[in-house]
Amino acid sequence: MKFGTRIIHNGHEVDPHTKAVGVPIHQVSTFNQDSLDHFGKYDYARSGNPTREALEETVTLLENGTQGFAFASGMAAISSILLLFSPGDHLVVCDDVYGGTYRVLTTLFSRLGIDVSFVDTTSLAEIRKAIRPNTRGLYLETPSNPLLKITDLAGVAGIAREHGILTLVDNTFMTPYLQRPLDLGCDIVLHSGTKFLNGHSDVICGFAVVGDPGLAARIGFMQNSFGAILGPQDSWLVLRGLKTLKVRMEESQRGALAVVDWLCRQEKVIEVFYPGLATHPGFSIQQTQAAGPGAVLSFTVATIELTRRLLEELTLAAFAVSLGGVESIISYPAKMSHAAMPRDEREARGITDTLVRLSVGLEDPGDLIADLDRVLNR
Ligand SMILES: *Cc1c(COP(=O)(O)O)cnc(C)c1O
Repeated sequence: MKFGTRIIHNGHEVDPHTKAVGVPIHQVSTFNQDSLDHFGKYDYARSGNPTREALEETVTLLENGTQGFAFASGMAAISSILLLFSPGDHLVVCDDVYGGTYRVLTTLFSRLGIDVSFVDTTSLAEIRKAIRPNTRGLYLETPSNPLLKITDLAGVAGIAREHGILTLVDNTFMTPYLQRPLDLGCDIVLHSGTKFLNGHSDVICGFAVVGDPGLAARIGFMQNSFGAILGPQDSWLVLRGLKTLKVRMEESQRGALAVVDWLCRQEKVIEVFYPGLATHPGFSIQQTQAAGPGAVLSFTVATIELTRRLLEELTLAAFAVSLGGVESIISYPAKMSHAAMPRDEREARGITDTLVRLSVGLEDPGDLIADLDRVLNR
């Protein structure tokens, strides 16, 4: 079955008990047990809840994994998964990693004795150079945030296998509709489901999906022990949002391509970052490892004043943190996603004061362009 069919016919399209054409919200914390000798499949809802389980199975199916785990936020998923590592371990992390991931690595996990090197992972040679005898994980985002840099996932997975290292990929920007890291040989896929997976800017959630059953058992233990699980109401909302993932991604990407084409022709736009541009250094890798460039782009403009006007005066894009909603969202990485990064670190990574990130929603692309034109060129 093709992706579009699997989203809808995900094994949970009919409730077996009532024949309802949807998953019930099991708003409970505990489950009655019939026998002292045999406890049922569910005992306590931190360990398992049928609504959350339906969502976990659906995301696993879409990522071609064997098991998936839903968490209370993307950061809860990422932080829980980082508990796979121990004091003395070293991680190689892409250098424009999500600001929250940067923060948790450099302030919390560093205290627990986990050492990190931030590396330009677009270069496999740089990754090889950064690997030490105690390196246990390679942590990637591709396209990265906010500069949309592309890392060769199959290439990295090959290096990781040579060294017996885990490859972790934050797949938030692409979603499994456009890119499936497990198919490319990576070990763990992470998501902020808050973004495109849920897609409606009304839930905070996160996921981890794996292929290896041994790894799945370890993560299941951590999810239950650490306890940062997603609740049943939110699980249901994400199940609902996921049903339109394919059409939302297709339409948002179509809009992004139109906006990028227009931005590239504007005098006041200095540089456009989008992996769908033939001039993007990662263009050909993106074409081989993903089904499209996605719906997020970044660009720099001529002045700080113009940057401010774009953020404050666009009417069709919310000026907000986040991305991947049905509404377009414009954000300012320097003070939003990367506020946790020291200024010199941030500027060294190219996240300057005139950089804005645009997540293209489902508005008509012509209307979005007219709105941008009004603010940029008035
Ligand atoms: C938003 C985001 C996160 C964090 O997810 P939350 O759901 O906000 O905790 C992690 N990675 C990426 C790429 C993100 O965009």
